[in-house]
Amino acid sequence: MGTSEIETYDLVGVGFGPSNLSLAVALEEHRGGIPGQPLTAAFFERQPSFGWHRNMLLPHTTMQISFLKDLVTFRNPLSRHSFVSYLHSVGRLTQFVNNQDFFPTRQEFHQYLEWVESNFSHQVSYGSEVTGLRLPENSGPGRPDHVQVEVRDTGGSGTRIVNARNLVISTGLVPRMPEGIQRDERVWHSSDLLERFRGLNGDDLKNVAVVGAGQSAAEITRFFHDMLPHAQVTAVIPSYGYSVADDTPFANQVFDPSAVDDYYFGTELTREAFWRYHRNTNYSVVDDELIRDLHKRSYQEDVSGHKRLQFLNLTRVAAVRRAGTETRVTLRSLVEGESRELETDALVFATGYDSMEPSRLLGDLDQHFLRNQNGLHRVERNYRIATTGALPFDVYLQGGTEHTHGLTSSLLSNLAIRSGEIVKSIEQRRTERALIHRTPVAAGESTS
Ligand SMILES: Cc1cc2nc3c(=O)[nH]c(=O)nc-3n(C[C@H](O)[C@H](O)[C@H](O)COP(=O)(O)OP(=O)(O)OC[C@H]3O[C@@H](n4cnc5c(N)ncnc54)[C@H](O)[C@@H]3O)c2cc1C
Repeated sequence: MGTSEIETYDLVGVGFGPSNLSLAVALEEHRGGIPGQPLTAAFFERQPSFGWHRNMLLPHTTMQISFLKDLVTFRNPLSRHSFVSYLHSVGRLTQFVNNQDFFPTRQEFHQYLEWVESNFSHQVSYGSEVTGLRLPENSGPGRPDHVQVEVRDTGGSGTRIVNARNLVISTGLVPRMPEGIQRDERVWHSSDLLERFRGLNGDDLKNVAVVGAGQSAAEITRFFHDMLPHAQVTAVIPSYGYSVADDTPFANQVFDPSAVDDYYFGTELTREAFWRYHRNTNYSVVDDELIRDLHKRSYQEDVSGHKRLQFLNLTRVAAVRRAGTETRVTLRSLVEGESRELETDALVFATGYDSMEPSRLLGDLDQHFLRNQNGLHRVERNYRIATTGALPFDVYLQGGTEHTHGLTSSLLSNLAIRSGEIVKSIEQRRTERALIHRTPVAAGESTS
């Protein structure tokens, strides 16, 4: 592309995790629309290459969803991009079936995602962070039909602009730390884990602690116990103990595609019921097998008298002080209200994530998007943010729609269907606009 040329795309995807990867597949498989004019798309991802929560690809960790909830199957069971197709292509289908397990390891699912990604990498710019949006100056005849998207090269070679008629924001969950506690080389969030861990000599980690009561906290506790056989491992748990994740069949229905409609078109009471009764399908809960494993380990240590795994329940971190390679943690018991000190060589906060929030990316243009009485974006059923009507482009969200679309918003369960719905909506609105203006729709052209 020359310096004076700006590419214009029907769809620009911000972030290229599983959500926008699924969208790329849905676009490829989309049929119908304007003959001879397929929707054009480009995706921007700030990581240097494809990666799905790489720092939490711990040994033996498994998916929280069935392999059939892959990027495509619920939308198109005939797709060549399914998990089953992947297994077939790598020659593991028979053994996978013999394994009789609906839940592959995260490592295997990551391999599947990379396999699908390899068919779409020509549409993705890696090392490219989308930093802002601006409306074009109306230089030519007619109204502009796009927004300008600023993309920063994370390698330091500057910023470029692309034009987008539709933006699909899918930037993922945001790591959450307790207020006032900073991450560094010895104080980590769970999303830093493997990179930080590999950066240190395991022999130097004699005391490690994990804060949190959810799946990641339990996984990291087990990981440390396995990887650091000489170390004291302390789990700091704000609850009385780990709570089990409910993945029984009736509860699992909250992740069904039809549950999105029930949530979206339901009353306030319906939505409240989803959260009140079914939070324990996903939030601050742990797989049954992992809970039992950790308890067995602890009990075995009681029996052997060699105790190095301890669980401090009803306990919170009150303060963290760093001195050299040591980290001094002040813990407060919620029972007695008493404080105690713990010295650690590595402290991990598995304290969860905040949901995706597009405001920073939308910048000044955010004023044109409508919000509900709680100050959250009004999102239409097709995942488009409702606007005041003044904008020449549309913004769709994949993530950050818990308040409108329910529990699957930040999960993989409904990706296939959601991506199909977004593509359909973009195509429909393009066709409507073409009819209104009675002009052929230009796709993928360059403007100077
Ligand atoms: C450890 C872990 C395990 C999980 N396991 C499961 C599971 O088994 N089942 C399940 O349903 N859910 C699971 N989840 C939930 C998780 O949200 C989804 O798995 C999934 O990551 C959602 O995909 P996504 O593409 O929306 O977001 P992400 O995977 O987070 O991808 C977003 C991408 O956007 C990029 N990005 C961010 N900002 C910008 C920007 N400004 N410009 C360019 N790129 C940007 C990021 O680098 C990232 O690659 C898990 C979450 C974690 C943390």
